Amino acid sequence: MNIVILTGAGISAESGLATFTAADGLWNGHRIEGVCTPDALERNPDAVCAFYDERKSEAASAEPNPAHIALAKLERFWQETGKGEFLLVTQNVDDLHERSGSINLIHMHGVLNSAFCMECGWQGPRHGRLEGNRECPACERDALRPDIVLFGEAPRHLRQIEAALEQCDLFVAIGTSGTVYPAAGFVEIANTKGAETHRFDTRLADGSQHFDNCYVGEAGQTLPNWVNEMMGDKHLGWNLTPEQKAGFIREMEECGAHVTFYCEDMVRYLTNIGLDAEEMPDGSLRLYDQTIEPTQPEWGVPGIYAPDVLSAAIEAYGLDLKTEMLGRGFGHRDRLNQLARSWNDA
Ligand SMILES: [Zn+2]
Repeated sequence: MNIVILTGAGISAESGLATFTAADGLWNGHRIEGVCTPDALERNPDAVCAFYDERKSEAASAEPNPAHIALAKLERFWQETGKGEFLLVTQNVDDLHERSGSINLIHMHGVLNSAFCMECGWQGPRHGRLEGNRECPACERDALRPDIVLFGEAPRHLRQIEAALEQCDLFVAIGTSGTVYPAAGFVEIANTKGAETHRFDTRLADGSQHFDNCYVGEAGQTLPNWVNEMMGDKHLGWNLTPEQKAGFIREMEECGAHVTFYCEDMVRYLTNIGLDAEEMPDGSLRLYDQTIEPTQPEWGVPGIYAPDVLSAAIEAYGLDLKTEMLGRGFGHRDRLNQLARSWNDA
């Protein structure tokens, strides 16, 4: 199975790196036309260099998060077991993927830790500041610029990326919009070729309908579970950390008895605390390998009944709790505390 993964600003945002917001035309307070365009580079190269020097030092002090680490782990597993091709494409210019151990990696928008010469074409690693220090090591002219794709310049390696997409069986977009280029174009190629497509994002945003599966939540929470599944660990069971267990209990408590939720909302609740949940096409909710059917109450709206989610958890864990104590109307604090204790003891 050949895999192509595309990561965007969302995955770096979880490591604390600021993201560009097209809505207000600002990046961390800078107007983009002043610092991120070929025009700006021509007018005031040092200002452009200073801007990217700042991004570079921010990236240097950021750490990879569990999502970066999970992707490197999946790549290693894919190669060691000869499962197929693995290509990671990122729109990010930081080096968090490299520092996590990713190897087959394309930076389609360039990298912060590199420069090239506008006069002679020299290109190479550059870790220090560029502002006021733009002398090219090859031709000695003051012509170095950040090795970054500025707004209005063409993304790199598109031919190689498209070739990989045409051969892929699985395309995964993480922390990047599904409606705008390039993710929109990539998922289109993958769909045309009959590949399975997954998306990881903090919300079910526009464009989700183009993907077979959407995982909602912080990628640092949802992606490690998915990677474990990809590595054949189908029965993750409910291998939750004590914090996740506590989060689950808290969420269920807040749901209270007799409460139904839109499936999408319940999925968000569960994925936000790191559980593997998704809304199925028929309106049911998948929680790990269990299916929870929607209810059709006489009052209110059809949806997922909170006590059913808790019952599924009890069944999955094989917990020694009498379900009739819970019935279909839990919400009793003592019962939940009892459940929490049994998880924490397990
Ligand atoms: Zn040069």
